[in-house]
Amino acid sequence: MNNKKGKVFYIVIGLVIIFLMNYFVFPFLFGSQTKEVSYDFFLEELDRKNIDEVEIDDTFIVFTTKTNAKNDKPSSLLGVDSNSKTTYKTGLMDDPALVAKLEHSGAKFTKVQPEEMSPILATILSYGIPILIMVIFWRFLSKQMAKGGFGGNAMSFGKSNAKVYVKAQTGKTFSDVAGQDEAKEALTEIVDFLHNPKKYAAIGATLPKGALLVGPPGTGKTLLAQAVAGEANVPFFSISGSEFVEMFVGMGAAKVRDLFKQANEKAPCIVFIDEIDTIGKKRDSAHFSGGNDEREQTLNQLLTEMDGFDGKKGVVILAATNRPDSLDKALLRPGRFDRRIPVELPDLRGREAILRVHAKKVNIADGVDFKSIANATSGASGAELANIINESALRAVRLGRIEVEQSDLEESVEVILAGYQRKGMVISQKEKEIIAYHEVGHALVAALQKNSAPVHKITIIPRTSGALGYTMQVEEDEKFLMSKEEAFNKIVTFTAGRAAEKLMFNSVTTGASNDIEQATKIARAMITRYGMSDEFGMVAFETLNNPYLSEDTSLMCSNETSSKIDREVVKIISDAYEKAETILRNNMQKLNSIARYLIDKETITGDEFMDLLNM
Ligand code: ADP
Ligand code: MG
Ligand code: ZN
Repeated sequence: MNNKKGKVFYIVIGLVIIFLMNYFVFPFLFGSQTKEVSYDFFLEELDRKNIDEVEIDDTFIVFTTKTNAKNDKPSSLLGVDSNSKTTYKTGLMDDPALVAKLEHSGAKFTKVQPEEMSPILATILSYGIPILIMVIFWRFLSKQMAKGGFGGNAMSFGKSNAKVYVKAQTGKTFSDVAGQDEAKEALTEIVDFLHNPKKYAAIGATLPKGALLVGPPGTGKTLLAQAVAGEANVPFFSISGSEFVEMFVGMGAAKVRDLFKQANEKAPCIVFIDEIDTIGKKRDSAHFSGGNDEREQTLNQLLTEMDGFDGKKGVVILAATNRPDSLDKALLRPGRFDRRIPVELPDLRGREAILRVHAKKVNIADGVDFKSIANATSGASGAELANIINESALRAVRLGRIEVEQSDLEESVEVILAGYQRKGMVISQKEKEIIAYHEVGHALVAALQKNSAPVHKITIIPRTSGALGYTMQVEEDEKFLMSKEEAFNKIVTFTAGRAAEKLMFNSVTTGASNDIEQATKIARAMITRYGMSDEFGMVAFETLNNPYLSEDTSLMCSNETSSKIDREVVKIISDAYEKAETILRNNMQKLNSIARYLIDKETITGDEFMDLLNM
């Protein structure tokens, strides 16, 4: 549960116990039954000749009485027998007549050296012993908790910390996961196996021991695993890979051992290791970067455990990662995670379904068009779509409405893509003009080229992401392929912003930096990955390290080729720029009239834009 709170709680309890012991229990145990009394009390007993033995040291007088002292009620609290002799103690006063008084009363008295117990030893004893007791108590507690006696095992290093879910505890089922039909089908089979193992045994089928959910971040891998927990009627152990990587060496491996021990006891059950790449990274590559024995040990232990347990017993291991490329090959060998379940970014239908699933949680106005929102969010993950719904609900509240309307959704798409509007930002008229011409440049060139996505919106309202304006293009249909011509046209559209600025104001600004970056990326990929250059043909110089991170690539070619590639990139982009400039030069009137309109309105829709263009 809540580890931090748990720890603080136990530390406080521990301190309180040490405190109590020092004040109540220890004086009783070590000081036998010595009572501190006033000097008065001592003199009075002396007068009564009731004092038996007296020991005097430098600071204290310790004495016993013959019979019960007059003023002393036997302490029933500590259970002292009233007939037993009590030892009293009082401070030594500067009393010259003391020896005479003692002699007169007939007491036996001696002078003693104070017991030589160094203050350090005393401190160690009074704090060390309670701490020792605490440690023993602590171990006892954590053992109890590992057995599941208490809420969670907050303090037990080396325990797996896996949260055990049973049915319905995650509250998620497959109906919460929109789209991802293939993944759901594969997981349904696993759930079914755990429910009816006989059906599978009858035909001689064994299910894979492990299944690996792979896909980009935010596509619902964790959600799917939680849904499996909700669907399956068996215990579900969930742990994140990062939880294995502990402060102390050797703990990761111990945690793995413990996790599998628990799982074996609870079989049939499901073990889910989220973000497995944190422990499952390739071992050889780790050595180059200094090595990490701890992680390696953890991984080895995981491999051993996976091999060790009996597949028929009904322990299924699910794991999720968005970095399948970096996983150690040993993990993917048959008998381990030999089944891969791809969890990809949603397509058009999937996006609409995800929007609808999340829209159920908010008040949505009738007639909201989810399809158009899905259309405008090509490439968005499930997490981003869920975020769009939430953003639009927040916006509706901000505007004092009780329902989410289409405009909320549309604005939220832009918030997710480009950040919030920066209403307070003051932009000079001159800069506003430059930005408007820049954006209309993009839009015009996009509209006047074949095979470009239609313009959906143009705006010069700045966004928190740093964009001073942008042109949104939305494909009519979902596209999975890009032709060479389309790739080039994209670059042309990217260069058109700068081209419009140059034509109109004969100056260049930093406003095009993002366009330049995007254009360069496409041009490079055309040459090094897509085989779209005449110079090199179908040769891959660059390979994607991670299918889900298009930035993460490695280049493999000679220096000579590398500089040739650079020259080729420059050529593609300058050709594109020339084309954009030509298109704009031939449409200066349109550029002017639409840019003027945009400066006035700040935002124009795709339809308005097409009207202006066709006027
Ligand atoms: P991952 O583990 O793949 O990075 P998560 O499972 O954590 O992604 O997804 C984050 C959130 O995104 C989920 O909690 C859910 O709200 C939303 N989400 C992602 N994919 C889907 C989906 N297919 N259907 C419904 N919601 C989704
Ligand atoms: Mg996740
Ligand atoms: Zn631009």
